[in-house]
This record gives sequence, structure tokens and C-alpha cells, in this order.
Amino acid sequence: MKELNIGWSGAVGAPYGPWDIQPYIQLLGKRYIATTGQTQLHDIYRSKGVRGIEDPQTPEYKSLLEEANRLFEAGVIKGFGELILNNEHSNPVPSFRRRARLDSPGVLQLFDVAKRWEGFVHIHAEDHPESVKETEKVASAYPTVPIILAHCMFSANTTLIDRLLTQHPNLYCEMSARNESMYETTVARRLADQSGWIVFDNQSLRPDWKALIEKHPTRFMVGTDTFNAWVDVRKAVRQIRFGLLQNLSPETARLVASGNAIRVMRLEP
Ligand SMILES: [Zn+2]
Repeated sequence: MKELNIGWSGAVGAPYGPWDIQPYIQLLGKRYIATTGQTQLHDIYRSKGVRGIEDPQTPEYKSLLEEANRLFEAGVIKGFGELILNNEHSNPVPSFRRRARLDSPGVLQLFDVAKRWEGFVHIHAEDHPESVKETEKVASAYPTVPIILAHCMFSANTTLIDRLLTQHPNLYCEMSARNESMYETTVARRLADQSGWIVFDNQSLRPDWKALIEKHPTRFMVGTDTFNAWVDVRKAVRQIRFGLLQNLSPETARLVASGNAIRVMRLEP
């Protein structure tokens, strides 16, 4: 982060074992965007499947809610995330793929806690019609809770995203894994091309996305998605700076680079 001049990182579960956010908090202090929920939801999914994610009456959820309330109260965490609710096509590991209802009682109780503490909810869901419908339902039901859509729903449909951002002022798009360098193998690249995931590379930004971001300058933020050791962070950051930010107006670039994240996730300099 120092070498690449990165101000903040996080908003996801601890990426490598022992799955504990404490070492990151100790190391990074205010530069770490601490959240909870990702690893716990993964454990629930592993033992109980999608039904476990949707079912509020489990001991796992009980302890997650207790922990979240405690961490919010102590000012340790800023939100929930990354809640992986629909990654049917966007995860390379088949056993990790799922589609759970965003508006299920299990997930909604996390929204209740976020609302109570004015925290954000960071969700990984693809733009499957059902997930979109559920996202809109939740966004309307919790207007004070910022909902950060990881990878901008991996959507290729800028008309859809434009409509969502226009109709729901509490929805935000996070743009990690929408850059070319995340898809370096032939197989990954073919899937990304077929699915329209790649929005920017070393120097160019797709014109429809440039227009979308300029239309909603306060609603986008950047991310690296270094979820695995093979992700080349330097390359990702280079593409964010020269493929994405450089192609935006200076005011929009400042907001997308950090201004929006600072405001929405209530980060401290
Ligand atoms: Zn994700």
C-alpha cells in the first residue's frame, strides 16, 4: 500500500487463513476498512448450503449478529462484507458457487444491524434477474443503508445499472475485477469476454461505461480484489489509474478514486 500510494483497503473478510481481521486492524489501523460476515457466511454455506444462508434461526447467525453488534458498537467495523450471495458464474471454484436470496430472512437480519449502526453492506451478486429484483427490494426497504455492489454486479448491461442507480440512491458500484489483468489465462479470458466483464485495461475505458460513470459520478468506487495470491496488484492498480481514472474527468476521477469510498464507508484520513 505504501509503495503504490493506496490510502485504504479492506471491506472484505480477511483473505487468507486464519480468517481473522485482528492482524489487519493492528497492521493498518484507520487505513483498514474492517467488516464482518464474509467468512461466517462462507462457513454457513459450507455446512448448510443456500438454505443455511437464508435461514435466520441458526446458532451461526446468532453468534455473527452478536459479534457484529459488538464490533459496530466498539467502532471497529464499518459494515458487512463481502457477502457472497450470487456467484453462480463469477467464481472459478465450483464448490464455492451459490445463489441465495438477498431478501431472505437470514440476510435481512444483517441489514437490520447495518441500519442500526449506520454501516454499509457490501454484496457480491451477479445481475441474474432474481438477484436484481431482490437488490431493488432490499434497497427500497433499507434506504439509509448504503449497498455496495461488488464488481458492479459483473453486469455488462449499462442500461440496467443506469436504471438501478437512478432509482435507488443508496446503491453504489465497486469496480474491482472489471479490469483486463484479472483474466490472464485463456479460459478466464474467454469467459470474461463472453460475459462482458472487462470494462477497462491498461489505457482504455469502454465508452458506455465512461458515460455511465460520468452520469453518476458519486456512485462508483475502485477496488483491486486481491482475493488470491496470483492476483497481480501492481498491474491491477496500474489499470485502475491509467485505464479507468485517467479516462474520467478530473472531478469524477477524484470521487471514484477515493472521495466516494471515504463518504460512503465513513473512512478517516
Ligand atoms: Zn467478489
